[in-house]
Formats: sequence, structure tokens, C-alpha cells
Amino acid sequence: MSKIESIRTLRVVRLVLDCEKYMREALELAREAAAQGEVPVGCVVFDESGAVIGRGRNRREELADAGAHAELEAIREACSVRGSWNLSGCGLAVTLEPCPMCAGAVINARLSTVIYGAKEPRSGSVGSVINLFEENYGHRPAVYGGVLSEDCARLLAEFFRGIR
Ligand SMILES: [Zn+2]
Repeated sequence: MSKIESIRTLRVVRLVLDCEKYMREALELAREAAAQGEVPVGCVVFDESGAVIGRGRNRREELADAGAHAELEAIREACSVRGSWNLSGCGLAVTLEPCPMCAGAVINARLSTVIYGAKEPRSGSVGSVINLFEENYGHRPAVYGGVLSEDCARLLAEFFRGIR
């Protein structure tokens, strides 16, 4: 392997490890949601240094709010920490493919990176129903899908099996 190839390989390995690290944090939040009787979806927002500056989980039942999705909660906290609506340079990791509302929030917040776990065939708007990041909104984050997707999907499947 050439030096350039090995540097590239190291970068890819680091990226995969980073994606999984953030997804594990998001999975913890998803488990918290499940423990509270909420559909288990969790999300973190991290900044350029890698620090987590926003955390969120689904609170739709608790707040009786159709907009209480994990991503919006994490984005709100990150905006508050930064003192800005503009999260350019930051990334978001969420256990489930974002819905159109949350993909829209990613665009509005100018998040640079989106990492998601399981696919959501009924509302996923990063490739399943539509890919909003490929439309002409003038903002296209880098997307890494399918990160720890089996863990994310298993958590959802166990939750729905339990309440049936
Ligand atoms: Zn959503």
C-alpha cells in the first residue's frame, strides 16, 4: 500500500469510528426514549472539535407534540449552546433516517454532516421516500447512512414487539 493509500485508509477508518461513536451516544438517548414509552429515536449534534453540543430524543407522547422529534431537540440545544441558528461545520447523528420536517431543519440549520442509522421506509426523507438533500435547497450536507443500522433497527423492533 502506498503512503497516500494508507493515509486515505486511515481517514476512512477514523470516519467510520467517529460515526459509530456518535451513533452510540444517539442510541443511548433512543434507549431513554423507549424507557419512557416513546418510540426509540435518539440524536446528537457535534461541533468541529468533535464535542457533543446537542442531545435529543423523541418526546412526542410526553409533550403531546407532533414536532417533538429527537433531531429538533438536539438542534435546538446546539443552537442555544452556539448562540446561533447557523450550525455550519457541525454534524448530526440520529438513529433513524430523518423525516421531512427534520431533514428540513438540517437544511435550515446548515448542518454540514448527517449520520443516520436505520432506514425509515414510510417517512425517511434522505433517500427512502425522497432525498431532500438532493433537491435544490442550496444546502447539501455530507450523508453517511446505515451506521450501526442493525442496533438502531433492533431497538425499534423490540419496542414495537413489546407494546403489541
Ligand atoms: Zn423528524
